[in-house]
Amino acid sequence: MPSLPHVYDSLIIGGGPGGLTAAIYLRRFTRNVAVVDKGNSRLRLIPVSHNYPGFPEGVPGPTLLGNLTVQLQRYGGAVMAGEIVDLRIEDGHFVASYLAEDADEQVELRALTVILATGVADVGLPVENWREAVAFGSVRLCPVCDGFDVMDKRIAVATAEVNPVGHALFMRTFSADVTLFERGDASILMDDDRRRLDAAGVRYIDSPLLSVTLDASMKPVLHTKDGNYEADVFYPMLGENARSSLAAKLGAETAHCDELVVDSHCASAVPGLYAIVDVTVGLNQIAVATGQAARAATHIHNRLPPALRHAVATSPLALHNEAA
Ligand SMILES: Cc1cc2nc3c(=O)[nH]c(=O)nc-3n(C[C@H](O)[C@H](O)[C@H](O)COP(=O)(O)OP(=O)(O)OC[C@H]3O[C@@H](n4cnc5c(N)ncnc54)[C@H](O)[C@@H]3O)c2cc1C
Repeated sequence: MPSLPHVYDSLIIGGGPGGLTAAIYLRRFTRNVAVVDKGNSRLRLIPVSHNYPGFPEGVPGPTLLGNLTVQLQRYGGAVMAGEIVDLRIEDGHFVASYLAEDADEQVELRALTVILATGVADVGLPVENWREAVAFGSVRLCPVCDGFDVMDKRIAVATAEVNPVGHALFMRTFSADVTLFERGDASILMDDDRRRLDAAGVRYIDSPLLSVTLDASMKPVLHTKDGNYEADVFYPMLGENARSSLAAKLGAETAHCDELVVDSHCASAVPGLYAIVDVTVGLNQIAVATGQAARAATHIHNRLPPALRHAVATSPLALHNEAA
């Protein structure tokens, strides 16, 4: 496999808000960085985010992604389109197999450190035309992100595998009309779950959810064995899997849903291998992305061999001598 000649200070895998912010920081520390991105950041699914600070009118996810890319270019960085298909350690370097978009042959990239910012993959949505519904806002994937934006609407929530009633209870902050639907043939709700739902005034439908369609105005209709229910917005809460396999293969620790375990600098147990945001254990938010990227990038810069500024051709001492 052909190998690019130089060794990058850092290889960033993933060009969502986490990877791009880390790259901006490292470029501003004058580090030489490669960013490889496969092009399906979750930001692309966000019609408008209203909880990312600094944008009082909200910001569409694709606009934020575009702004971060331009900001990186301003510091001499660029995103390489394609995928890192393998990552290994050889002679103290990380060696990544890079398959560029539209290329047939892989190329090796070498780096002293790696930041994994590969995000998560949503586990399939049982909703017809779900992309359109997400773009329209009638199907939503993140209660923390946009609960406020569905204030007083008729909200349908499906049970999640872990803590099945948690999201429905969370949504009661925003609406008195919340209904929880059970997924799967057998009920997973325990007596205590039902008590908590009753106490909070959340309805629950025992009959398993079979499918979800959209009516003419794009509103969700939830079909169960015993009947159909209309709502204004549906949170499917199907879960997600972290794209952590490149790091796990090198021995990084994983937790629930394959999420990576990292320390307060976002370093994994594999020296030089960092992981940030959605691919790690924690809150999946853009604000977390920028914070973790800043931490990881600064830690990397402080631990790499110093990036010394070239000496200036004419030193102040030489100038003084010339004047004398
Ligand atoms: C519908 C929706 C609405 C949301 N709304 C909000 C909101 O309002 N506020 C908020 O804070 N958060 C919101 N989020 C969450 C937010 O989008 C994520 O937390 C954020 O995008 C995570 O950033 P990331 O950099 O970890 O991953 P991502 O943005 O998902 O980027 C990961 C990138 O890595 C690439 N990649 C993966 N594997 C490889 C590989 N092997 N090689 C190369 N590239 C690879 C992917 O293609 C992708 O481009 C929302 C999410 C969704 C789905």
